[in-house]
Amino acid sequence: MARQLPQGSRLVLASHNKGKLREIEALLRPHGVDVVSAGDMGLPEPVEDAPDFAGNARIKALAAAIATGLPALSDDSGFCVSALNGDPGVLSARWAGDSKDFAAAMALVHDRMGDTADTRAWFVAALCLAWPDGHTETFLGRIDGTVVWPPRGTRGFGYDPMFVPDGRGITFGEMDPDEKHAISHRARAFAQVLASCFG
Ligand code: IMP
Repeated sequence: MARQLPQGSRLVLASHNKGKLREIEALLRPHGVDVVSAGDMGLPEPVEDAPDFAGNARIKALAAAIATGLPALSDDSGFCVSALNGDPGVLSARWAGDSKDFAAAMALVHDRMGDTADTRAWFVAALCLAWPDGHTETFLGRIDGTVVWPPRGTRGFGYDPMFVPDGRGITFGEMDPDEKHAISHRARAFAQVLASCFG
């Protein structure tokens, strides 16, 4: 049974990724929710060892909800490349290493793709809402597109500069943030959160 988040609820954003926090805060802003981030509350980052996006999202949201006694929203997401059998996938952040070097991660994707003609790729986001009593609800969003090389644009974060969504001529890295928020994997998952939890 879906649970609602009443207007004025306090919600912990269970992410330490500044790019995601910025995007999720923008998505939540119109809905009268008082948002606080896991980083601001001094929460540690749990080990994400599930094999899929939904499992990792659940680990992060549950850890934050139990630690704070508040409902928590997490995002586990990644960039999947057809020619790489869906990699980097759940390891998208790790491909950038401890220094979070996404220029290097994009170059690695490009190198591994070699001269394949299959440039299809997609982003996936799993958003999980967890409550302190252990109840969770998970929502998945996806956007399809193609890989381009070299990367283009300085907006967004992560793999945005090497991804052109289907039907658009520009990368997420070149796109106005509002335009990305209207179509992204995260926005698609978030639309389901809204329909389920905000009535
Ligand atoms: P995690 O969900 O924190 O494990 O990390 C997800 C990683 O996927 C991020 O660090 C980015 O590298 C990548 N990613 C997820 N969503 C996006 C996006 O909207 N644009 C670009 N990269 C993304």
